[in-house]
Amino acid sequence: SVKQAGRNGIAFFDPEMEARVRQRHALQLALAQAIDGGGLQLYLQPQVDARGHTVGAEALLRWPQPGGRFVSPAEFIPLAEESGLILPLGAWVLEHTATLLARWQTEPALARLRLAVNVSPRQFREADFVDRVAEVLRRHRLPAQHLELEITESVFLGDLEEARRTLQRLKALGVTLALDDFGTGYSSLSYLAELPFDVIKIDQHFVARLPQRRRADLAIVSTIIALGRKLGTTVLAEGVETAEQAEYLVTHGCHLLQGYHFGRPMPIESFERGLGAA
Ligand code: C2E
Ligand code: MG
Ligand code: MG
Ligand code: MG
Repeated sequence: SVKQAGRNGIAFFDPEMEARVRQRHALQLALAQAIDGGGLQLYLQPQVDARGHTVGAEALLRWPQPGGRFVSPAEFIPLAEESGLILPLGAWVLEHTATLLARWQTEPALARLRLAVNVSPRQFREADFVDRVAEVLRRHRLPAQHLELEITESVFLGDLEEARRTLQRLKALGVTLALDDFGTGYSSLSYLAELPFDVIKIDQHFVARLPQRRRADLAIVSTIIALGRKLGTTVLAEGVETAEQAEYLVTHGCHLLQGYHFGRPMPIESFERGLGAA
């Protein structure tokens, strides 16, 4: 086939590939506009204790489209990471969660709740990330421990020492640190023991398979819980969809639960109303 140089000097051999590249580019442009133009929303999903009482929420991004459809964050977060849009996007999420937390401080039904925010690896590695978090805490006068930062193990793939220093500086600010999607990454046990995480979140894949009661999955889940407890870390299970899963987890000492069984991600007002806030 004849090599045709595209507009950017990129050669496309395959029209399907070219179409995909154009589509990604269009999606990136639309996302950039959504970040600037108020086109994004935060949904909240409750996190509950062993008695089912809500102790906090995870903020999850939603990108509504005309016609009521949503583009899933699983689709646009990787795209945002690739293009660098994750930096303004992450800043937007941090600012909005801080504003929300500040408002909760004046509302008795909400003032004790923690609010968890997902931090992407690229955002975490930015040289000024810790300073930005510190600035946001100061400006909104937040009780730092109420802001929880969720970080995945992939941040340790690069410079582990650098990641450790960043975590320690965040810890020194007083924020709560959670290790997200635990069990899906790499040599995780040493991270758990050495790094200053307050919460570990057992990945939903392990939880989803609990009803089948395969010995391997039960062993993994109960071992993560036991390990977390021994290390003095709060253990949260993600993706809890059934009463049976919840019961198994609580019986084995899991502190906190999150999943459709307790509540789907929902608009902020629905979450607040559910807790009897005005
Ligand atoms: P995550 O942080 O592990 O979030 C948990 C995901 O599981 C969410 O998907 C949530 O809606 C879903 N989930 C919760 N309960 C259940 C359940 O019972 N069953 C099942 N099957 N799923 C459940 P979502 O909202 O689509 O987000 C996907 C991922 O996108 C998140 O995974 C997170 O990595 C990323 N993400 C979402 N919001 C943000 C954000 O503001 N910033 C960054 N950097 N990443 C985000
Ligand atoms: Mg998360
Ligand atoms: Mg997770
Ligand atoms: Mg995930």
